Amino acid sequence: MAVVPGASQAQPVSYQLRAGDHRIDLNERLGAPLQLRWSGAIACTHCGRATKKSFAQGYCYPCFKRLAQCDTCIVKPETCHYFQGTCREPEWAQQHCFQPHIVYLANSSGLKVGITRKTQMPTRWLDQGAIQALPILEVDTRQQAGFVEMLFKEHVGDRTNWRAMLKGDVAALDLKAERDRLMSVTASGLGQLKREHGVDAIRELDSQHYAFHYPVTTFPGKIVSHNFDKQPEVSGILQGIKGQYLLLDTGVINLRKFTGYEVSVA
Ligand SMILES: [Zn+2]
Repeated sequence: MAVVPGASQAQPVSYQLRAGDHRIDLNERLGAPLQLRWSGAIACTHCGRATKKSFAQGYCYPCFKRLAQCDTCIVKPETCHYFQGTCREPEWAQQHCFQPHIVYLANSSGLKVGITRKTQMPTRWLDQGAIQALPILEVDTRQQAGFVEMLFKEHVGDRTNWRAMLKGDVAALDLKAERDRLMSVTASGLGQLKREHGVDAIRELDSQHYAFHYPVTTFPGKIVSHNFDKQPEVSGILQGIKGQYLLLDTGVINLRKFTGYEVSVA
C-alpha cells in the first residue's frame, strides 16, 4: 500500500493500493464495500520466487537468511557488526546504514522514540499511524542512531500499541517539550556518545513539528483482526485507513504483514 502525506497538514494522508500495474485510490472507497481475496500465492518481494510462507513480512527463506536488510542488526542497529567484517552485504550497508539517520519522537499510541533513514521521512511515521512527529537529532550512521535510541529508551517507549493507535483516541502531545525534557535527562549520555563518535557525528535539530490526519470515518470499538492465512477472503465496508491498516466494519487488516501475497481487489 502506497501512502502519501496530505498536501498540507490539515489534509488527510492519501492511500493507494498497488494492484499489478494500476493503483486503487483507497480514500475514494471510504464508506463503500471492499473485498480482498488472496489467491494462495506469495512471491518474495526481493527475488520474486514463489514461497509457501512469508518471512520478515515479504521474503522467501533464502533471502531472509542472506540479505542484510533481514538481519537482526537492522531492528537492533546498536548490534551492527560491519566493523567485525561479518556484514551480510557490505555494499548494501554502505547505501543504507552508512547514510544520515534521524532520531525522532512520534505520537502513534502515545510518545515513542524511533529512528529512520533520513530519506524515509515522513513515510516511516505514516506507516506507524503517527499523528505527530518531531525529528530531534541527525546522525551519520544507523548504528549511531541505535546508540542514541538505546539511551532515550531508558526514558521513553519505542513501540506502537497498534490497538490503541487504531482506536483513534490518541491525545496530542507537546513534542517539543518532550524533546527538551529528554535531551536534558540524557545530556551526559549524549555528551559521551559525541566524544566517542566525534562532535559532528551527532547533531541536534531544530525541526518543524509534523502532524498527520488519516482518512477514517469510524474508528473500531472492539478490534478484530483479519488474517489471510486463516481466511483468504476479507470483505466489509471500508471505514478508514491508518498506518498500514485497513479499517473495515468487519475487522482490521494489517496489509504490511501480507506483503508479497497475491491479492485481488473488488
Ligand atoms: Zn527471495
